[in-house]
Amino acid sequence: MYLKRRFVLLYGSQKGQAQSIAEGVAEEAGDHGLVAELSCLDNSEKYNLEKETAPVVFIVSTTGDGEPPDNALGFVKRIKRKTLASDHYKHLCYALLALGDTNYANFCNCGKTIEQRLQELGAKQFYPTGYADDGVGLEVVVDPWLDGLWEAIKEALSKMTSDSTGYLNVDAGASPKETADSSPPDIQLNLLSITDCQNCELSEQSRKTLSTSSASATQTAASSLTHSLPPLSELALNVPLLPPPYLDVSLQEAETTEQVSIRIVGPFKKENLHEVPISKAVQMTRGDSVKTALLLELDISACPMMTYQPGDSFDVFCSNRATEVEDMLHRLGLYDKRNHMVHICLLKDTKKRGAQVPSYIPQNISLLYLLTWCLEIRSVPKKAFLRALLEHTADGVQRRRLQELCSKQGAADYNLYVRDPSLSVLELLTAFPSCSPPLSILIEHVPKLQPRPYSAASSCRRHPGKLHFVFNLVELPACSVRPVWRRGLCTGGLFDLINPVLVFPGKTESSSKAALPKIHVSWRPSCSFRPPADLSVPFIMVGPGTGVAPFIGFLQQRYGKQEHPEATFGETWLFFGCRHRDRDYLFREELEGFVSSGTLNHLKLCFSRDGHEEDADGATDSVTRCRYVQHNLLCNSQSITDILLKQNGRLYVCGDAKNMAKDVNDALVEMMKTALGRDQLEAMKTLAALREDKRYLQDIWG
Ligand code: FAD
Repeated sequence: MYLKRRFVLLYGSQKGQAQSIAEGVAEEAGDHGLVAELSCLDNSEKYNLEKETAPVVFIVSTTGDGEPPDNALGFVKRIKRKTLASDHYKHLCYALLALGDTNYANFCNCGKTIEQRLQELGAKQFYPTGYADDGVGLEVVVDPWLDGLWEAIKEALSKMTSDSTGYLNVDAGASPKETADSSPPDIQLNLLSITDCQNCELSEQSRKTLSTSSASATQTAASSLTHSLPPLSELALNVPLLPPPYLDVSLQEAETTEQVSIRIVGPFKKENLHEVPISKAVQMTRGDSVKTALLLELDISACPMMTYQPGDSFDVFCSNRATEVEDMLHRLGLYDKRNHMVHICLLKDTKKRGAQVPSYIPQNISLLYLLTWCLEIRSVPKKAFLRALLEHTADGVQRRRLQELCSKQGAADYNLYVRDPSLSVLELLTAFPSCSPPLSILIEHVPKLQPRPYSAASSCRRHPGKLHFVFNLVELPACSVRPVWRRGLCTGGLFDLINPVLVFPGKTESSSKAALPKIHVSWRPSCSFRPPADLSVPFIMVGPGTGVAPFIGFLQQRYGKQEHPEATFGETWLFFGCRHRDRDYLFREELEGFVSSGTLNHLKLCFSRDGHEEDADGATDSVTRCRYVQHNLLCNSQSITDILLKQNGRLYVCGDAKNMAKDVNDALVEMMKTALGRDQLEAMKTLAALREDKRYLQDIWG
């Protein structure tokens, strides 16, 4: 009798990407004569690595400053215990797919941490680790990695004996010991050697390939989101498997019309979610500035639980825009049923493994509430979603185009027309009018509406009962797939809310008598991005643009140095940059005040679009080369490396992850090379050690 062979499939996922890849693997396993035992890493009762004899596949993403996703935190903590023996996982045979983004410094850090620990504990790799880069498209690595996975699992299984409850004794001759001691099969993936370093090169390579294909697609006028050209339009396509439907969704007329306001959803406990008034809203940039930065002051005096430290961040809960929700309701043909209650349960005969009703959708909510507060209808449709939409698209031409966009062959078009312009679900449905998906498909594929984190830009010491934060109004320009520009969901929503009470530069008060609006916020778990507790420790802050926000909190907290003449204070440095001194120099007066009071010893400024730059800490040497913060860092190389290498000081970087954080890191590598007189690798190792030591810290977003 033929029995399917099992393997264990574990995922750690913050935004659902790793989970959805893992679910795809679980679905496909059957076609390869395998059974995947799928589980989330935090469901530790569902798997037991200590006794596992089958191959284990990990698919994990990385979040924040290289942290594990929330649902992998416990696992990482467990395997990091120092008490574990070096042969703890000697019996284990694993493969790992790490998801990350090379725009962030700690690329795939969670995957690397797990891998390193598994190896330290004696586990053996049976298939090379894949490091997929969201910066260029995960699929560049994920697709070939998955293609090669099946053979690798089968090969690993054939070397292993089944456990006592195993489905099949494939090779009764081989003992677990032999398996553990045997070297991993030498697997070559098509064109891809998936080692970490090479992968970065690959990312560059694929970036080039993609941009070349992007360029050629742009040149050909007739190619668009909805139309393709040869050769793609003539190719046979490899389309992903249809994700099995798993939700049974019905609408029932409600007895009362529910008010559409936020409820406590998902993992947020009541005590964590606060509705707080905005007590002040100030535009920080001049009207002619390229970006608009706004400062909001929240009155948190009624929430004594909300105490915060400089460096903390918090979540702002925003809803989808009412007009987009309305458009979506019309598009689904459900506008008349918007106040009906949504009932969701699992399809009785679903083939989806580990199917669950999404935990972030509360019971007894209206359809209007669901689309307003639960689903990120602005999210970029994933390929699995496009695949599912195919089944509900009547027009043949549109069906073919959806097939292309979710196919391997259409990867460049997917990036060009869907991913890069951040095409939303609603924009996609508008472009494909013959597609009429049922509500269940939307709930299955559209991710949870996420709150947006912001860094505190104040200290409780200076502003008791108040919390400040600063943000740039995100604006997505009009493009071929989006005829009308749009604002970011949260920043645009906040702007609409505060517009009537906004205070403009040069004015102290709003003339408006409009009532102060309220927003929902919740605290994020405390981080290590904190000023040194020991005042004598010197530190360097790098925060261009809105990245300066947490450092205002740091400096406010430290203010009052002159009141403690007996204490020793380490030097403080701040590197700030923006386009123009007169248009978008945020917190100018406050920063100059910190310099005058001696709270900030060195304020290094650069204005990328002004003719020249200068220091604001008394130094008169105008440094014309310094366009961006990294240039200014290089100009102060000696002082910085002294602080880091000789004075046990710290360096904090905050702001844009896409370019700045990487450029700053590159500058630091250069500085370390010179200071140490060593090569690139040694310099990188020194920086890695500083990170490990929590002396090089980042709070970056992109
Ligand atoms: P969204 O609707 O989420 O849109 C943003 C998306 O649009 C992004 O995916 C981006 O890639 C995309 N996008 C942006 N521009 C374009 C474009 N031109 N073309 C195509 N796509 C584009 N932000 C601050 O301003 N201040 C802070 O203090 C701050 N602190 C943070 C702290 C942490 C720990 C983190 C993780 C993030 C922080 N952020 C901060 C970022 C913030 O959370 C939001 O991501 C940001 O404000 C945008 O939210 P939004 O809802 O308006 O935009």
